[in-house]
Amino acid sequence: QWIYLNGEFVTKENAKVSVYDHGFLYGDGIFEGIRVYSGNIFRMEEHMDRLYRSAKSIMLNMPHSKEDFTDLVVETVERNQLRDAYIRIVVSRGVGDLGLDPYKCPKANVVVIVEPLAIFPKELYERGLDIVTVATRRNRPDVLSPKVKSLNYLNNVLVKIEAHLANVSEALMLNDQGYVAEGSADNIFIVRGNSFLTPPGYVGALEGITRNAVIEIAKNLGYEVKEEPFTRHDVYTADEVFLTGTAAEVIAVVKVDGRVIGDGVPGQHTQNILREFRARVVVDGIQ
Ligand code: PLP
Repeated sequence: QWIYLNGEFVTKENAKVSVYDHGFLYGDGIFEGIRVYSGNIFRMEEHMDRLYRSAKSIMLNMPHSKEDFTDLVVETVERNQLRDAYIRIVVSRGVGDLGLDPYKCPKANVVVIVEPLAIFPKELYERGLDIVTVATRRNRPDVLSPKVKSLNYLNNVLVKIEAHLANVSEALMLNDQGYVAEGSADNIFIVRGNSFLTPPGYVGALEGITRNAVIEIAKNLGYEVKEEPFTRHDVYTADEVFLTGTAAEVIAVVKVDGRVIGDGVPGQHTQNILREFRARVVVDGIQ
């Protein structure tokens, strides 16, 4: 396995950064997760655009142009000779002193890791997930924009801990007003009749690239898609519920806080989306 680290390709054992790195000290940095399907990088341009928007928003100087960095990521995938994989890009503020001041970090640390990925076991895709809502809230969009995919993932980590404590594999966060925001690393959709609903960005969800792909797919299949806030009640009483994310792809949810969703099995509409998504992942990628 070859990891890209600041201009070099190194082995896993040699892929190390300083303890003075501000990503480590303060979570000061950004990241992206991207999938490779049959050698095609899924929606790479959208991921790179989001990465560079995140960098701009937090005033992090990217050491490469978007085009050069895209080439570097492609090269890292090629060197690892994996046809199906997950790419993790991490760009931290870099090494500084113990103070917070990012202006004392002259150079960002840049890491690209490519490795195989299996997030949920296969049978969960067939059976659907049992999830809960948790006490941890999504940070307010006006405080730290959820559009920035930053290294500050503590509330998402707390969601995972609450999920473990409840003996389930994923959980949902609400925002500070009680509207449903998203999962620990995935967006939520609910299906009501012929309509798909997903929370708008201002509720506090990351604008997921899988979410955008699913919106397009659903519209193409003739469904109505609405981005509007909804509550737990709407989730409990939906016909179908599913989650989307780079790692999770499209996965049905069959129980939320003990309430059985629909018939308690992955619904027809969710399966339509999943089928179409799988057909698209290769076509939408770049080689
Ligand atoms: N929400 C959060 C908090 C995430 O970290 C992710 C994962 O990237 C998502 C949603 C899903 O976004 P995407 O489909 O771009 O992977």
